[in-house]
Amino acid sequence: MRTKIVAGNWKMNKNDEETEDLLNDLIDKLPSDKEIRIIVAPTFVNLQSAVEHLQFTNIDVAAQNMHQSENGAFTGEISADMLQSVGVNIVILGHSERRAIFKETDATISFKVDAAINHDMTVIFCFGEELKDRQAGNQFNIVENQLRDGLFQIEAKSWENIILAYEPVWAIGTGETASPDQAQEMHQFIRETVRKSFGSDIAESVSILYGGSVKPENAKEIFSKPDVDGGLIGGAALKASDFAGIVNGI
Ligand code: PEP
Repeated sequence: MRTKIVAGNWKMNKNDEETEDLLNDLIDKLPSDKEIRIIVAPTFVNLQSAVEHLQFTNIDVAAQNMHQSENGAFTGEISADMLQSVGVNIVILGHSERRAIFKETDATISFKVDAAINHDMTVIFCFGEELKDRQAGNQFNIVENQLRDGLFQIEAKSWENIILAYEPVWAIGTGETASPDQAQEMHQFIRETVRKSFGSDIAESVSILYGGSVKPENAKEIFSKPDVDGGLIGGAALKASDFAGIVNGI
């Protein structure tokens, strides 16, 4: 059985006090009896307090990004070792905002993946096509290339550190969601792509999350698809009742 996962990417939202409020609200509202892994990704400055706050709960903490180097003259950056020193062992890499706004390439992302794996961290690897790619019928090529160029350099044994997050860019923060059938079609393609390079055991055991305007109202139908193992949630992760509603959709 693959692990079901719901992860919340808070992006650049919530100051220290607001982070504490949202975490308290999540502890109250999230179910504690579900067979599901729950992850939240607050900003860098609140990671340490989030880890402390959540230590006796079933909620894990992830970073939203990290640098590929161990340390050095990289003003404003954070390394894997720094994350681990405050108890964070999960990192989101390759998010479309990192790719589009901060110009991260597949090559850069592959170095970050390698650095995270060298530290035995779990990577939530994000990828997905833009609207123009889908309109041109190019979505499968784009997704396959992002996987091959950003992730497939890893060794087979490292797949236990990987969570995939398919996030069509046209559905992120737009209110537009891929239909459950569109999500299933792509997730199945992703699993087959993994299978071709790494075999069935890995393909069948890796969790593939869907991300893009998931809400309590649409979560259940999307999560009911056989190759959708949960979600990466942006906007709806900022309100505990919405996030709990999505978790309850699993
Ligand atoms: C995201 O940014 O990863 C995301 C899925 O955002 P939203 O849920 O707001 O579309």
